[in-house]
Amino acid sequence: MTGTDPAKPTAEVVLSARKVRKHFGELEVLRGIDLEVRAGEVLCVIGPSGSGKSTLLRCFNHLEKIDAGRIEVDGELVGYEPHGASGSRLRERRPRDIRHQRERIGMVFQRFHLFPHRTALQNVMEGPIAVKGRPRQEAERRARELLARVGLADRADHYPAQLSGGQQQRVAIARALAMEPTLMLFDEPTSALDPELVGEVLGVMRDLARSGMTMIVVTHEMGFAREVADRVVFMDEGAVVEAGSPAEVFTAPRHDRTRAFLSTVL
Ligand code: ADP
Ligand code: MG
Repeated sequence: MTGTDPAKPTAEVVLSARKVRKHFGELEVLRGIDLEVRAGEVLCVIGPSGSGKSTLLRCFNHLEKIDAGRIEVDGELVGYEPHGASGSRLRERRPRDIRHQRERIGMVFQRFHLFPHRTALQNVMEGPIAVKGRPRQEAERRARELLARVGLADRADHYPAQLSGGQQQRVAIARALAMEPTLMLFDEPTSALDPELVGEVLGVMRDLARSGMTMIVVTHEMGFAREVADRVVFMDEGAVVEAGSPAEVFTAPRHDRTRAFLSTVL
């Protein structure tokens, strides 16, 4: 890892997307997306509603199948064009491979999706025990560490309904981290929160970024993107319109569409 070097040019590629296309019926939602994320990098994706940001993250995590192009995570294919340029049809991925790959990608959504009848601690322990077969004691020790890391050591035995939205989202982050992902995807993790709760979640994400986690964050929090992102990608109508350092994209956007979008959110 190259610490604070924004370009991190020597770090290994964790995620690579090439010419990724996706449509729903007549609607082309992703029109040839190229993206690369290196180890330790924080990529923030911004753009108007409906531009395809969530769909892109869902493709990275096997929640959607792509129609064309290629996605690799840790050098392994996630999605691919069934009929590649060579004309050869690649072998379909088996469910076991998909599960194995999903384990390496943590995802945090706008809504927290915690199990309502389990405590914070049980929510965080569940994955390592059920999916990774970790011994209960070890899973509990690790879950307590993670709850402490997100500032919720004293809430371990609370049920989701007893927690604020910000606390629930921090449990959701701890739960994703419990699977020891190599890549964390965040899809507008603070959009459903009351304004006064946004800061505590962004704070946890900032700490995570500083710890060297590789992250792709879809967000409308421009302050966060400016401060924490190594690179910012602006998407519109299913395409990457502009990408660069936060200074490049926020201070000196090259495209009219980027300028127009920023004028609505800044
Ligand atoms: P964003 O996250 O940038 O707001 P989305 O990826 O959610 O954008 O959506 C992009 C477009 O794809 C929108 O027009 C949305 O209505 C459409 N869309 C998303 N998911 C589906 C689906 N499962 N079926 C049909 N259309 C969809
Ligand atoms: Mg979205």
